[in-house]
Amino acid sequence: MTDTPIAPLRERLAAEGADAFLVKHAANVRYLSGFTAGEDASLLITSDSAFILTDFRYYEQVERQAPGWELFRLTTTLPAGFAELVRQIGVRRVAFESASITYGLYEELARAEDVELLPVKGWVEDLRAVKNPREIACIRRAVEIADGALAALPSLIRPGMTERELAWELEVYIRTHGADDIAFPIIVAGGPNSAMPHAVPSDRPLVPGEPIVLDLGAKVEGYCSDATRTVCLGQPDDRFREVYAVVLAAQQAAERGIHAGLLGKEADAFARQVIADARFGEAFGHGLGHGVGLEVHERPSAGQRSEDRLQPGSVITVEPGIYLPGWGGVRIEDLVVVTETGVEVLTAASKEPVLAP
Ligand code: ZN
Ligand code: ZN
Repeated sequence: MTDTPIAPLRERLAAEGADAFLVKHAANVRYLSGFTAGEDASLLITSDSAFILTDFRYYEQVERQAPGWELFRLTTTLPAGFAELVRQIGVRRVAFESASITYGLYEELARAEDVELLPVKGWVEDLRAVKNPREIACIRRAVEIADGALAALPSLIRPGMTERELAWELEVYIRTHGADDIAFPIIVAGGPNSAMPHAVPSDRPLVPGEPIVLDLGAKVEGYCSDATRTVCLGQPDDRFREVYAVVLAAQQAAERGIHAGLLGKEADAFARQVIADARFGEAFGHGLGHGVGLEVHERPSAGQRSEDRLQPGSVITVEPGIYLPGWGGVRIEDLVVVTETGVEVLTAASKEPVLAP
């Protein structure tokens, strides 16, 4: 079941002079219908009907999960079913999600008789950029599980274990503490590897005194969390202390400054200014944050060039970082809910970076 209204999509249909909207992106299908196998279904929404198109494997699941939707049984291909359905209900101008339909599929859909296809972008993503209380509750639970994994870190981490081994221990924690799944492949990156923001865990052993970046998230009822902490086993060097203090100050400045109504790039600027003032500007090469929900990267963006406007109920990461090739990196990432006057920080994991070796 979903409490997601489709009225705003019908308003957009009317404004565009279109008769129907074909939804293909998996997370959008799930968001609107509640059907959890969104990658194997499509939606067709008109001014007065709402169809879900899927095949034999899912007929029963659709009836349970998406009871408000009229099931259109696909017996061959999506383009064949689409052509049949649009003929039956007599729609001509069909908006479709151009970012989620390949050129090959487009060519096949376009063979439907008397149908004009109209590419559109972001219709559902705009709705997903503001979370309702049920969605925030799911995200909160996903955050708590990831916080639990980070709290368990001192008992999981040992010098000499590899990045891969620690990533697996964290994944086991998440999967055995109430998550549906991990939200994305866990990053554990030690020493020079931590200078790569999206490092993949390797067989390199974790060495005392080096920065270790841990980036992880859990999924609850489809909703993701996303958190990063940087730690050091034993005493860090002076550079670690300096870089860590700058990244933490940048994050605090952003969390103090962000509120609804700002553009994503204005949110980014709070942290970027602190890092630039400390002369590490060149070493912060990614955006401050991104929206999180059914997908781990979604709207709104809080990047350097983002024109997305933050709204009350937007859920975004605040994750400044400094990356120094050859030495390593520090990133600290919280998940926050944007409010009228500020943010509520959901992530509660400790930011004390020094762990006993
Ligand atoms: Zn992350
Ligand atoms: Zn992130």
